[in-house]
Amino acid sequence: MKNAVPKIGVSKCLTFDACRYDGQMIPSEFIERMKPFLDFVPVCPEVSVGLGVPRKATRLVFNEDRYSMVQPALEKDCTQDMEEFLNSWLQDHPDLDGFLLKSRSPSCGIKDVRLYPTMNSQSTIGKGIGYFPHKIQQIYPHLVIEDEGRMNNARIREHFFTRIYLQNAFCELSTKYTISSLVQFHTVHKYLFMAYRPSVLQKMGQLVAHAKKMPNEDVLSSYQGYIAEVFSTLPRTPSIINALQHCFGYVSDKLSGQERSYFLKQIQHYKEKRIPLSALLSLMKSWIVRFQEPYLLEQRLFDPYPEELMDVQDSGKGND
Ligand code: SF4
Repeated sequence: MKNAVPKIGVSKCLTFDACRYDGQMIPSEFIERMKPFLDFVPVCPEVSVGLGVPRKATRLVFNEDRYSMVQPALEKDCTQDMEEFLNSWLQDHPDLDGFLLKSRSPSCGIKDVRLYPTMNSQSTIGKGIGYFPHKIQQIYPHLVIEDEGRMNNARIREHFFTRIYLQNAFCELSTKYTISSLVQFHTVHKYLFMAYRPSVLQKMGQLVAHAKKMPNEDVLSSYQGYIAEVFSTLPRTPSIINALQHCFGYVSDKLSGQERSYFLKQIQHYKEKRIPLSALLSLMKSWIVRFQEPYLLEQRLFDPYPEELMDVQDSGKGND
């Protein structure tokens, strides 16, 4: 069943509870502002496996391709507890649309987590992903996992919102799947996918064309795999421009020569990073509305998530 708004698993210490090892809670302006719009599901893996608050620091040991979660001061190996808790918690929450986690924590950090070769080693062997996101990737490889600190970056934030709302819509498609609902979903997302990864859009189109001959589960799982591939990186400028030029083709013959050259000039300014993408999208959207171009009116490229979220400004807070 689709959630009314995207449901996001979140590190509990981010505004929800004073559960850090030192008894602190982390303030986050971004999460506070998002609370009316997103359904947050807070979880603290370390407290959930009984490590308590306050507690001795944990660390990640990476040895022979295997992760262990340990508390060196107590000579304690928490790996088994962590494994059991996370498997069960994740299986109890199959309807999450994404995750927002605390940076650099051995449990929650999505990258740059210090990795040690042994429990008591003084030196690290590198940096990697924390225990919780590693587990999420194993169980729900198609879901977006973001670091709350990165939400200060407008492009990363837009990418995150786009993905969670798309995942939310895909959930609805999965529960009420028919060939025509898949065609409709694919149609309205066509230019959004093109703006990200045109090569994957092509493969998705072939899948949709052959969907009738395939079992529903295979279609949905392949399509979801392609969605994950489309959104595996931020969109590249040439792909965005290519998608916008395709859209421009629908309205260009209704525009004056002056308007057409203005658009081309704005494309050039965007290439040179003198204007943001939102300026180009707004310009195109104003023409779509003016000419009531039906195919483009429903394109999610121009409306990937609710307008209220577009007002979210940078919090001014860096990674902590
Ligand atoms: S980073 Fe994760 S494990 Fe650490 S306090 Fe926050 S929620 Fe708990």
